[in-house]
Amino acid sequence: MQNKSNLSRREFLKIAGAGLGSLALTANACVSAGASSNEELPLEEHWALLYDATQCSGCRECERACKAYNKLPEENVDDLSGNTFTLIKLYQSEDGAQKSFRKYQCMHCVDPACAASCPVGALHKIENGPVVYDAYKCIGCRYCMQACAFGVPRYDWSLAYPFIRKCEMCYHREAGPACADICPKQALLFGRRGDLLEIAKMRISVNPGKYFEDRVYGEFEGGGTSVLILSGVPFEAIGLPGLDPQPLPDRTQWALNIVPAIFFGVGGAMSAVYQRTKNKTSTPEEEVKS
Ligand code: SF4
Ligand code: SF4
Ligand code: SF4
Repeated sequence: MQNKSNLSRREFLKIAGAGLGSLALTANACVSAGASSNEELPLEEHWALLYDATQCSGCRECERACKAYNKLPEENVDDLSGNTFTLIKLYQSEDGAQKSFRKYQCMHCVDPACAASCPVGALHKIENGPVVYDAYKCIGCRYCMQACAFGVPRYDWSLAYPFIRKCEMCYHREAGPACADICPKQALLFGRRGDLLEIAKMRISVNPGKYFEDRVYGEFEGGGTSVLILSGVPFEAIGLPGLDPQPLPDRTQWALNIVPAIFFGVGGAMSAVYQRTKNKTSTPEEEVKS
């Protein structure tokens, strides 16, 4: 296992100087903690990512690292897809005065609506935080797509037996998420949620006026997320939904009620049309991506 931290030495020293030096901050330690314990971890110990949009240069190294680690083909898309688990988008105001990048990916909600809506437990939150997917359990009902307030789960329509596809926080990767590992700007940090919140608040406190409303998106929104976001522009301006602290599953019962109609109506029809129009040359087994 590599002995590496995703945090800059300067940030570590800043935190140490603030009397928080006892925090265990390495991604390595974070992975170890998540992998070895069978007990429920407190929220502050959960794996998390901190994305600071003000430090993002838009280099898209994170996108490329995600594609490489997850063996996803290149494609020219402007939204998440079955083959694109993360995407950097540039937002700018009409007069061009305000610009900001935003990294899209699964937010790994503290109380994930996708998992709560899944009738067979194909999506579930593992004990150290990532929300992961079991293709063998999935029945293709797409409840999760309706329930997610962030529009994250995607269906891979190119397969005869499609799967839900999304970021799983690289939970199998020894050194933590590939995207955070490669970010050259410290715009994306991986660590324990409690530590990353401390860092985010430290950045806010030492940069007065830099961050929108001096707050961290995801600390409380929708019951909290494990992807935390700092922004210099309003969160809504970079496509983040305004959510109160109520856990999202509490508010998505409506989705459970309408999805059977969607599944057997629009969704079923789309699957049927796709399969009828597709020049099908492969067996279902060949179409299943490993
Ligand atoms: S962002 Fe959506 S897909 Fe990701 S954990 Fe939350 S509800 Fe699930
Ligand atoms: S955590 Fe892993 S799967 Fe998720 S966006 Fe980053 S590299 Fe991609
Ligand atoms: S690698 Fe870092 S700086 Fe580059 S686009 Fe991704 S988050 Fe932004």
